Amino acid sequence: MQGVIGVYAREDVGKRSLYTLYGVQHRGQESAGIAAAGDRSLRVWSAAGLVSRVFDERYAPFNHPDDYIVVGCASGEDVTGGLTPLILETERYRIALTLDGYLPKKPGDSNEKAFFDVLKAKLEGTSIVPALRETMWSLPTAYYSLVAAVLDKKDNHSILFAARDPRGVRPLHVARSKDKLFVASESAPVDVLEGMGEVFDDRRDVVPGSLIYISSEGIKEEQVLEPCPAHCAFEWVYFGRPDSVMEGKSVHVARKNLGHALVKTHGLKKKYGVENGPRKDLAVIPVPDSGRSVTTGVAEGLGVPADEGIIKNAYLGRTYLIYDPNFRKTASDLKHNVIRATVGGKKVAICDDSIVRGTVSESVAKNLRKAGATEVDFLVSYAPIFYPCFSDPADKPLAAKPFKGKSVEEIGNLVAENLPSIDHVLFNTPESIVESIGLPKQHVCTYCITGVDPFKGKD
Ligand code: 5GP
Ligand code: MG
Repeated sequence: MQGVIGVYAREDVGKRSLYTLYGVQHRGQESAGIAAAGDRSLRVWSAAGLVSRVFDERYAPFNHPDDYIVVGCASGEDVTGGLTPLILETERYRIALTLDGYLPKKPGDSNEKAFFDVLKAKLEGTSIVPALRETMWSLPTAYYSLVAAVLDKKDNHSILFAARDPRGVRPLHVARSKDKLFVASESAPVDVLEGMGEVFDDRRDVVPGSLIYISSEGIKEEQVLEPCPAHCAFEWVYFGRPDSVMEGKSVHVARKNLGHALVKTHGLKKKYGVENGPRKDLAVIPVPDSGRSVTTGVAEGLGVPADEGIIKNAYLGRTYLIYDPNFRKTASDLKHNVIRATVGGKKVAICDDSIVRGTVSESVAKNLRKAGATEVDFLVSYAPIFYPCFSDPADKPLAAKPFKGKSVEEIGNLVAENLPSIDHVLFNTPESIVESIGLPKQHVCTYCITGVDPFKGKD
């Protein structure tokens, strides 16, 4: 996954883009890249590491006063696939492109390379706008939230493009005024810029299937493909920032709703004996940080306070992408410490967004027990995951997969049997996920939990 940004502004484009780019860092921490363009040049800088490590505003070459377009990304893709933005050079154009999404491709190729392969062929007979349009037409099973800076070497000017596939699987937010345009994977970083004094006339999601571009001739927007939305449900459950709003639905509110749904689905008020008010021997705590919003919802639903029981060492970074299970366990152990004063001698209901393989949940629960928790229930906002995302080539051992076809209660019990430190695992149902997000069912992709493939039957 990637966080992408694009800015067209006649002043301070470098600084304003870097500020935007910081705000999408949660979508990828493997590498960072920026391309800057003006009338006569387009240059790119990228390296492995966090945005704050790769770029420094004070010494920024992309802060050149002649530039008026910057595109950037914080990438979670393996750097062996190449850094992004990727450059395509043709006789007339120099193009820097980065995208959050997935394209069918040859092994070892990046998604950007796969997009360029199609675009390059289309550019042979025509100019950039029709070529992009035709590329979108000819990629029916791809999804992309993309930004591109395009230097037209013949006319000596640059254009900023943003495009979103017709399903809108990944988010893309746009903010604009007459002579400036900001695009970002999510709304939160644009809020931050508004807080710093940036003013926009219009802010919204990029319509799925549309192409937006801005140059000295102004802003244009066209609906290249009919929208047939299939927004990834996991954006609201885990990927997105809680302070983002996607398709008009607050990520934090969706997560809190998921907490309320868990309480209702599993009759937790009765189960935990809190119908008449809180109990001193029950602790409701999050796995930080991904379990925070759902914990608030669970506590609200139960009518009991939430507490902090686990503290995360924020400097270790993400551990999810580590493939060696022993090393992942060590990484999770190193990352989380338990507050004995919260959990000692208590029944603990600990909440997180998802169980994928079960490594994090078991390692956290084991440490809760060591700190004196008498029972550990693991409450999960998402539903059991049976199918690896069609865009994820890694074959992860999914903890719930062997139990496909059973009820969420049964699956919870069976998953818990394989996680010795956990008494009960409580999942949400796919129906609750869709209801908690609040969008029509047919507009949400739930492939990993239902097997319903948004790329089948909609073309
Ligand atoms: P597991 O059950 O595989 O040990 O880990 C699950 C945890 O990893 C979840 O709590 C969630 O916070 C995080 N997670 C789930 N899916 C993803 C993903 O696609 N990418 C990243 N970076 N983290 C994820
Ligand atoms: Mg987590």
